[in-house]
Parts: sequence; structure tokens; C-alpha cells
Amino acid sequence: MRPAPVVIVGAGVMGASVAYHLAARGWGDVLLVDRSDGPGQGSTGVATGGFRAQYGTAINVRLSLLAREKFRCFRDEIGVDPGYLPAGYLWLAETRAELDGLLAGLEVQRAEGLHEATEVSAEEIGRINPALRRDGIIGGTFCPTDGFIAPLQVLNGYLAAALRAGVRVEWQTAVTGLIRDGNGSIVALETSKGRIATGVVVNACGAWAAELGGYAGVSLPVTPLRRQIAVTVPSSLLPPTTPMTIFVGDGFHFRPRDSRVLLLWPTPGVPGKPFDVSVDREWVAQVTTMARGRVPVLQDVAIDLASCRAGLYEMSPDHHALLGPDPACHNLFLINGSSGHGVMHAPALGQLLAELMSDGVAASLDVNPLRPSRFREGKPDPPAGPL
Ligand SMILES: Cc1cc2nc3c(=O)[nH]c(=O)nc-3n(C[C@H](O)[C@H](O)[C@H](O)COP(=O)(O)OP(=O)(O)OC[C@H]3O[C@@H](n4cnc5c(N)ncnc54)[C@H](O)[C@@H]3O)c2cc1C
Repeated sequence: MRPAPVVIVGAGVMGASVAYHLAARGWGDVLLVDRSDGPGQGSTGVATGGFRAQYGTAINVRLSLLAREKFRCFRDEIGVDPGYLPAGYLWLAETRAELDGLLAGLEVQRAEGLHEATEVSAEEIGRINPALRRDGIIGGTFCPTDGFIAPLQVLNGYLAAALRAGVRVEWQTAVTGLIRDGNGSIVALETSKGRIATGVVVNACGAWAAELGGYAGVSLPVTPLRRQIAVTVPSSLLPPTTPMTIFVGDGFHFRPRDSRVLLLWPTPGVPGKPFDVSVDREWVAQVTTMARGRVPVLQDVAIDLASCRAGLYEMSPDHHALLGPDPACHNLFLINGSSGHGVMHAPALGQLLAELMSDGVAASLDVNPLRPSRFREGKPDPPAGPL
């Protein structure tokens, strides 16, 4: 049995971020393991690359503001460009109720210090994103400092910085069991490469987090949800600075990326196959029709079926992250359940978990709303509304 005092399971953006932040705080001999062949094979590699601070709950706004600060100095701290492009997020309302939801979000955002997010009229929307057909849009909100990040650059940046700081990274190492002693502490991991003796385990398994928790006999309320992306052929129909543009009503959204346009529209996953990440051709046809109706310049653009993809959100019951020790296992730390916002929040969550693990408290912001015990206490976070 080989020893590793701290083992982080999952080398997606969360595992890489927490590995780097632990090493930066002086934790020696951190081991990061992943069952895949290399970086980006989980959800991080398929993410759209949106960044926003326009949320409807205080904790999510705070996480985004901390993350934004870290993206702004990422190149200095990590040595890599995270691709932060403040092209904005434009939310569109077609009913009074939808607009009220957005305005309620604005109040939360202002209370947290995000003052540049504003209500915008239909005319202003036309100026912000001239490609839109505005029929039926009664208003919306826009935040110019929201926009885009490059998921793989963030992930690879944290991995490289973690390696430089002494973290060991092992690919093709599947964790298949967690062994607890009579006091309930995890003392070892079973892996495809043999047993590892340890004193601390971090669950950074994304959509597969509940499976890892199950190995320790704990129940983790994180479930996978398929998200699909339709991708156009290369085109210059939308300038690269077009904001992420989202219809509140049905969640349809689009953005330009790498000289293509990405089209998204949330739907339930495949019944009975929660981890299925196949792309549904019928869905592609539907989302394309939606895009053509709402964004006239896309009327004739072709879809590149080979580039369409799907991945998994890691949903928690209240759509907020779980951060901190598992309530049923004191040396199993969770950084899970970001519910589709994990790339943008990873810099903040990795730093905050490293603070919690080092000092027992996160000094950068109050993470009590993210305590994993909130579900068994019957006190989940308030619903996030349309945001
Ligand atoms: C289509 C789509 C679009 C998205 N768009 C955005 C966006 O615009 N902005 C944003 O912020 N977020 C977005 N997300 C969400 C984001 O991708 C996730 O929140 C984030 O990537 C989660 O990071 P992670 O490190 O927890 O998970 P992952 O990147 O999935 O990494 C988890 C890793 O754990 C490993 N693993 C699992 N179980 C084991 C085991 N037993 N042993 C060893 N290794 C294991 C896996 O191999 C994997 O590499 C999107 C997600 C999808 C699917």
C-alpha cells in the first residue's frame, strides 16, 4: 500500500483548482487522481465557457465576484490566459413575470456590490445584440462584466500550476472503493492501481460525485443532467464580442465561440440513462429551428453535426454547490454540485475549500450557505429563480 496524505479524486476544473490552492497554502504531498486518460474528459471539457455574476442568490453572486477577481489576475497568479472576455450576458424576458424575476435578481446583485448589471429596454437590447429578432421581447437585464472564459485553459492552467507546486497527478487511476476505520475515518482508497493509504480525501468527481460518496457509504445528493450543444459550421455571422444571450422563458441561449455559434436549450436527460451523453438529432433540429426564428442571421447557417456534443451538469437539489466536510464522514471533503456553473466558480470554490481544510473556516467569504449538511438539516438554499 502506497501512502498519500491527501488524495483529490477527479482532475476536472474543481480537482485541479483545489489541488493548486492546497499546494499554494503549503500542503505537501497532495495526490490528484483521475480515471480518464488526460485533462478535460469530464464536464469541464464540454462546457460552453460562460461566466456571469448575474445570479438570483447572494452566495452565487459572491462566488462569481470572487472568481472574477481571480480570473482578472489569473495570468499573473497561474501563468495562463483564462480567456476571460467581458462580452456580457444578456437576459431576455417575454412576459412580465419573467422580467420581474430578472429585476428581483438585480436587487440581490446590487446588494452584493454588482452595480454594473442593469435593466435594459427592448430598444437597448437591439443595440446590445443587433442579431436578435426582438418580437415578443419586453425587456431584460445586461451585465457588461459577465461574458466568457476558456474552460480548458482554466483547467490546464490550474493543473500546470499544481504540478509546479509539487502536486502529483495520476491519470488512468480509477477510485473503486473507500475504506473507513472503526471511527468512521477514511484510511485508504481502493484504486485500479492498488490501494493508497490516506488521511484526507477530496471528492471532485463532478457528475459522478455520488458514486464516490457511495464508496464511503455516504449519500450525496448530486445527480447528472445531460446538456447538449449544437454547433454551427465556421461562420462570421456573429462578432466574437456578441454577449451570451439567454431567453428566460425556455432557457434557449447562444454565443459565438471559435468562429462558430453554439446553440443551447435545456431539456431533461435520457429517461432511465442519467449518464447518457449522446446527442439527440431531433433536439439538434429543434434548437436549430429556434435559433433561426430568433436570430435571423442564422437562417441559412448549417449545423456541423460532428461538432455537436453533450455533457453532464452535476445537479444538487437546490442548484447550489456543496462545499466542505461531508456531514457523515469528517475526512471526506466535498467540492460538488455546482449545477452547471462549475467552471466559472472553480477558482473561488477551490480557494475556499483550501481555506476550510487549512483553517476550519473560509476567510474569503462566508460559505455557510454551501455547507453540505444543509439538506439533512432540511434547510436548503432558497430557490435561485430564473437565474
Ligand atoms: C454542456 C455543458 C455546458 C456547460 N457550460 C458551462 C458554462 O458555460 N460555465 C460554467 O461555469 N460551467 C458550465 N458547465 C458546467 C461545468 O462544466 C461543470 O460545472 C464543471 O466542469 C464541473 O467540474 P468538475 O471538475 O467538478 O467535473 P469534471 O470536469 O466532470 O471532472 C470530474 C472528474 O472526475 C473524474 N472521476 C469521476 N469519478 C472518478 C473515480 N471514481 N475515480 C477517478 N476519477 C473519477 C472524471 O474522470 C472527471 O475527469 C457546463 C456543463 C455542460 C455539460
